[in-house]
Amino acid sequence: KKKKYLCPPGFNHFYKNPPQMVKGEMQYLFDDQGVKYLDFFAGVSVMNCGHCNPEIISAAIKQMETLQHTSIIYLTQNMVDLAERLAEVLPGNLTRSFFCCTGSEANETALTMAKLYTGKDQFIALNSGLHGRTYQTMSATEIPMWRSDDFLMPNFHFALSCAYSAGTLDEAAERSLESIEKIIESVGSDSIAALIAEPIQGNGGIITPPKWYFKKLKSILEKHGVLLIIDEVQTGFARTGKMFAIENYDVVPDIMTIAKALGNGMPISAASTTDEIGMKFNRPSASTLGGNPVCSATAMAVLDYIKENKLCERSEELGKMLKDGLLEIQVNHPDKIGQVRGIGLMLGMELASEDGSPLPELVDQVLEFALENGVIIGKNGRDRNVLAFQPPLVISKEDVRLVLSTLKLFFETN
Ligand code: PMP
Repeated sequence: KKKKYLCPPGFNHFYKNPPQMVKGEMQYLFDDQGVKYLDFFAGVSVMNCGHCNPEIISAAIKQMETLQHTSIIYLTQNMVDLAERLAEVLPGNLTRSFFCCTGSEANETALTMAKLYTGKDQFIALNSGLHGRTYQTMSATEIPMWRSDDFLMPNFHFALSCAYSAGTLDEAAERSLESIEKIIESVGSDSIAALIAEPIQGNGGIITPPKWYFKKLKSILEKHGVLLIIDEVQTGFARTGKMFAIENYDVVPDIMTIAKALGNGMPISAASTTDEIGMKFNRPSASTLGGNPVCSATAMAVLDYIKENKLCERSEELGKMLKDGLLEIQVNHPDKIGQVRGIGLMLGMELASEDGSPLPELVDQVLEFALENGVIIGKNGRDRNVLAFQPPLVISKEDVRLVLSTLKLFFETN
């Protein structure tokens, strides 16, 4: 039936025989055969607070029984309360939020905000970046497999990211900044509205810039009157040991986008900005379902849960344990494992041979082996050769040990 009715026809799931998931319980998923899996991908960084978290779904259900939808043409309380709660946790002076439903829509809004504020229409984006599937955001996406349209917008200019296969991360970051400066020079700072970037490139393969990168980048952009849009769609909400990944870099962007884990499975996203930029977004614009009472109530329950259960601290501590374990495995298998990257519980392990050639088939073998052992691991990367570890942040040390021992067994026996 899937092959007959779904579009696109070649739509692929992970795994040769994909299990059909029918139930979720915090860090666990269950398939239709009753098999239990430890989920280390969290629906691509969405279920930070766990599947069907009772505290969060009860807030959603309570709101669903009271008032579900009015659209923003009528005044409701939850959206305003959520905007206020976000202003408290967003970095710096990002106090104004525009609500919509998906990450793509939030980035679309951010790009429009930047154009309205600056009066300019050119953008810089980074290689290996992914920002969405709407027209502007797909145009801002460089990863070839996610550019499904042959006729994308010409006003996006791609600079090098911090990805590297030879030399050091610092050198790669310097090269990235140089290529950004080159674009500013050739396109002209009087035409470039903003640069859009993920703090850690998720789909690109958990590409993690060095600590100094974003400060230097921000000062280059400020010098040229170019805004910085940070896409926290995949990195936000305690995933990296901080509420937002950009806080690891001590930089406040001009516009920030959030989605995925904000709703812990409910569709809600936002583009958040300063008073100054927000006040220039003064034309009518509305997302019918954006920030509806149910999704807003859910998002507030997410913020409560993260704070009360200290998920930032948990992500930092368990992330360190996981990373140390991954590095230990890497040392023993340099012929198959390249870089181990990431911060907190957003980690990637690149599988490549010693000459640097990517090993995407081996990634698939690891995924199959882990599945057989009751563990779900993600994959990403421009060459689909990076194992991705982005579990719900409610996992335990025992869960980390299970993932590490499963990986160890794979690499010792394959
Ligand atoms: N930005 C980033 C960094 C993402 O990872 C994604 C989705 N994987 C998006 C934007 C698009 O989000 P959505 O699928 O909710 O439109």
